[in-house]
Amino acid sequence: DEFTRRNLQQLQERTLALIKPDGIPYMGKIIEAICCSGLIIKQLRMCKLSRGQAKDFYKAHMDKPFFEELANHMSSGPCVAMELVAEDAIAKWRLLLGPTSTEVARMKAPSSIRANFGTDSTRNAVHGADSYDSARREAHFFFADRMFAPCAKFFNVTLGIIK
Ligand code: UDP
Repeated sequence: DEFTRRNLQQLQERTLALIKPDGIPYMGKIIEAICCSGLIIKQLRMCKLSRGQAKDFYKAHMDKPFFEELANHMSSGPCVAMELVAEDAIAKWRLLLGPTSTEVARMKAPSSIRANFGTDSTRNAVHGADSYDSARREAHFFFADRMFAPCAKFFNVTLGIIK
């Protein structure tokens, strides 16, 4: 029925998360934060982007003054791409990662991933799709061959101490 259909749709919003090269030393902690926040990792891949691929990924920012620096950084080492699934996954992940600037993140969202593991506005540990359209494009960028991969049934898991 409609109730069930909507619930299932909501529960299965998908988004794309990326651990940037500067975030790789903290990937265990970043993945822990993701798992503890109720986001489910559906797919995960480690990859190394070429400079061209990094430019393509961030092509919306082609005219920005930081574009070259960003492309250099993103191709400087491996990244971890993840497809995350949850109710409101896009917003949830954006909230968890925090503001672009590390300085702002430390002031306004001190428990965010960027506040904890970022260095500046380019080396800010993680990336997150900011809309449904960018989530779709970015998921396709990293998981084109497995966009509709069958997967096990999802379970909502609450991590915590059982008393
Ligand atoms: N960026 C940068 N320098 C800046 C501002 C942004 O390198 O001064 C990068 C930022 O790290 C991100 C991308 O440009 O990877 C897009 O920036 P946006 O403002 O959309 O930030 P986000 O959505 O990642 O918070």
